[in-house]
This record gives sequence, C-alpha cells and structure tokens, in this order.
Amino acid sequence: MDNGIILVLIALFAGSVGSVLLAGLLLLLNDKRLQQISTYLAYLAGGTLLGATFLGMIPKATSMLSSDIVLEITLAGILFFFILEKIILWRTCRNKECERHLQTAIPMILIGDAFHNAIDGIVIAASFLTSTEMGVFVTLSVIFHEIPQELGDFGILLKGGMLRSKALLYNALSGSTAIIMGVIAYYYLNTAQSIIPYALAFSASSFLYIALADLIPEMHKKTKFKESAIQILIVSLGILLVYLIN
Ligand SMILES: [Zn+2]
Repeated sequence: MDNGIILVLIALFAGSVGSVLLAGLLLLLNDKRLQQISTYLAYLAGGTLLGATFLGMIPKATSMLSSDIVLEITLAGILFFFILEKIILWRTCRNKECERHLQTAIPMILIGDAFHNAIDGIVIAASFLTSTEMGVFVTLSVIFHEIPQELGDFGILLKGGMLRSKALLYNALSGSTAIIMGVIAYYYLNTAQSIIPYALAFSASSFLYIALADLIPEMHKKTKFKESAIQILIVSLGILLVYLIN
C-alpha cells in the first residue's frame, strides 16, 4: 500500500465510524455540557464547509477545468441534492424533537445516512488526491458535521425502542459506506485524474448543500441574542480555520 491510501483510510475512518463512536460516547456520558459541544461542532462545520467550498474545492477545480463547467456542475449538484432530499431522507436533523425525524421510519434514516456517508467518502478521497492540506480540512469538515448528525440519529433510534448496542452497530454500518466508497473513489480517481475537478465541483455542491440547506436553517431555530452571537463567532472561526490551513 502506498502512503496516500493509508492517510485516506485514516481520514475515512475518522469521518465515518470514528464519528459514530465519538457520538455514541457523548450519548453514553449523557452529560448536557458534552452534548452542547456537539451543537458547537455543528456551528463550526457550517464555517468549515463553506470555507472548504470557496477557499478550497471551487478554486482548485477551476484551476484544472473551465470555470463555466465547474459552476455548472456545482449548480447541477445542488439541484441533485434538493431532489434527492425530496425522495429519500438526505439529511436528518440535529434535535431529537425534529418533525422530519419523528415522521421518518428508522430504515429510511439509516438508508439516507448510508447514502450521505458514501458521498462524504468520495469527497474525502477526491480532496486528498488534490492535496494533503485540502484533504485535512475537508476531513475536519466531515467530522464536525457528522458527530452532531450521528448524535441526533442515536436519539431517534433509541426513542424508537432500539437497544444502545444495536443503534451503535447500525449507525456504524451506515457510516462504513464512507470507507467503501472512499476507497473505490480513491483508486478510480487515481487512474482517471482528469475526473478529479469534476469530483471536486460535485463535492463542493454537497458541502454547500449541507451548510446552507441543513446546518444554517437549524441554527436559525435559535433566536436568543447570546446564542446568535456564538453562532456568528463559531461559523467565522470555521472559515478562518480553513483559511489558515489553506
Ligand atoms: Zn456527512
């Protein structure tokens, strides 16, 4: 095995099954303060996802491919995720009382998650093939949004009467699609380098969609001044973090 795939494997594991285990640990500790950290991670993800899109993926893709094509793919990707969300449950929610969550059958949550994680895996592989720096901040963006996501999923599965061990196993299984698809994407893109900018443009649309259509609407549900100020601060911090790594 070359060094590249080892790094990608670590990143894929951290972004999927690792995040599930961390979320499971937070749940087990059942400490309100720790669970608060998960909310702040979602804020941070809002910033790093936007930063990764506009400071990393799109500029990199346009340096390899005409900007017209890159932006067209990104636009098509956003439409794709919108339609996908209409068909299957793409993103679930961050709080246990969410209507969308409560009305959705448990298998759909797991299928939607498996699909989502598979795309996260492809995004991680494509970014590591572009540069290690980009791989690092993209992986961080995935971890930051996955931990709160998985924590929300655990809440729903447990509420649905599932045992803790079973919920952990199912979540880990749906997370493992990231590893499988990430490894396939890594080898495929490595032999077909010309496809990388297309994969980056598509990845950008996935990240944009998660940040703007999923995380930020969730943030707007909290209207208190103090919480809003914290959100603005942490989102900005996330963007700054990508800027600095970049
Ligand atoms: Zn994700």
